[in-house]
Amino acid sequence: MPRRRFGTFSGGINLPAEKDATLDAAIAPWPVQELRIPLCPLPAAQAQPVVAPGDKVKPGQLLARTDDPQQVNVYAPLAGVVGDFTDVLVPDDFFGWRSSRAIVLKDLQPASQPNRPDFDWEHADAAELLERLREGHLLLCSGPFDNVSRWLESAIESAADTLICNVMENAPLVTADHRLLAERGGDVVRGLAILAKALSVAHTMLAVDSQRTGAYRSAARLAGALKIDTIALAPKYPIEAQAMLTQVLTRRQVVPGRSTLSVRVAMVDAATCAAAYQWAALGLRQTHRVVTMAGRGVKSPGNYLIPFGTDAAWLLAQACESEPPLRVHGSPMNGRELAVGAVVGPRTNALLGMEDSYAGPPTPCIRCGWCSDNCPARLNVAALNDDFELAHLDGAKARCVTACVGCGICTYLCPARLPLMSRCQQLRQMILREAKAATP
Ligand code: SF4
Ligand code: SF4
Repeated sequence: MPRRRFGTFSGGINLPAEKDATLDAAIAPWPVQELRIPLCPLPAAQAQPVVAPGDKVKPGQLLARTDDPQQVNVYAPLAGVVGDFTDVLVPDDFFGWRSSRAIVLKDLQPASQPNRPDFDWEHADAAELLERLREGHLLLCSGPFDNVSRWLESAIESAADTLICNVMENAPLVTADHRLLAERGGDVVRGLAILAKALSVAHTMLAVDSQRTGAYRSAARLAGALKIDTIALAPKYPIEAQAMLTQVLTRRQVVPGRSTLSVRVAMVDAATCAAAYQWAALGLRQTHRVVTMAGRGVKSPGNYLIPFGTDAAWLLAQACESEPPLRVHGSPMNGRELAVGAVVGPRTNALLGMEDSYAGPPTPCIRCGWCSDNCPARLNVAALNDDFELAHLDGAKARCVTACVGCGICTYLCPARLPLMSRCQQLRQMILREAKAATP
């Protein structure tokens, strides 16, 4: 794997990895008894069911269809019998969680989808690949975009010339993408090649943690054969943030409040690349997610292949020998507290048991400056906290809160236990919503 010198970014911290319990554990299945599959996986018009209670369904079968280009069709992860309809919670950037109607699937059978290699992706041109990916109704597993097809359209409109697969994953405890690249690197790299060909980009990179390159040798060899650069970088947190990784790899500064497409860089994660390959080459629907389960109270830490629609709280409770003080969906640095009714979906890279570091109420800011000193976006976080408490949106705008990458370092370091990241992200979302509403 070539080692080249790249720049770095200001701020950031070196975090304890705390990954030993799951780093080398192979991805394993986890038995589930019932699924509740959201009909509204994206915040757009609900997909309409094409099955009724009592129907038997096969893995990969269509459950609900949509004509809305913002939404995606819904497919069965496993064979089973359709039950009643219910409500579930799915992640939402603004509110934390959002309600969605869902199809219950019970009497589950462990059968998997049959391969249908009916599309020759290696000889397809960009337009054929884009059409094939559009038919896949795929979802992005990280980043500001949700719908793969819409993201590809936006990347083409932005004339993206660089595609980066981000496998930095340097938040503590989480190893889902690491295991995916180590065990199923062929799927990830071929998926990245398919997306690169669909976008017709000039340069494609696979960015990995320099401490784990030994596990990625076969993936890096295949990447080289497919003209993809594998780049190993030191894991200063939050290099996994899209704006930081773009800056380090391309020296381009992402416009605050915009995605990396503002500087012609398209960024994707390992799980989305694997899903793109499995659909485009093998005809397999995206119905599962590799989820890290680890942390306080988890008796069998590891990475598990979990079908979409699995009750996340039930799953974590199954894995825990005692109730952890805090249950987290996603990264321990910037994930959200697990809510009752939440289900596993494409964005569920981890379910963690944690200590509650906010035990006790927040106290007033003591102006120690730790938050601002380490903020990778170089924000005056204490002043932004004042803006939040005083509902001073113009102040937050002037202080460029839209550059916040939501890394959580400020919250992690604050001795006053102030929920700084959440406050900065709320200010950021309010300003972006205001700007969107003002756009004709
Ligand atoms: S203000 Fe935003 S970018 Fe800065 S440390 Fe806090 S969460 Fe990270
Ligand atoms: S880290 Fe907390 S206490 Fe220190 S300046 Fe920032 S907000 Fe204030």
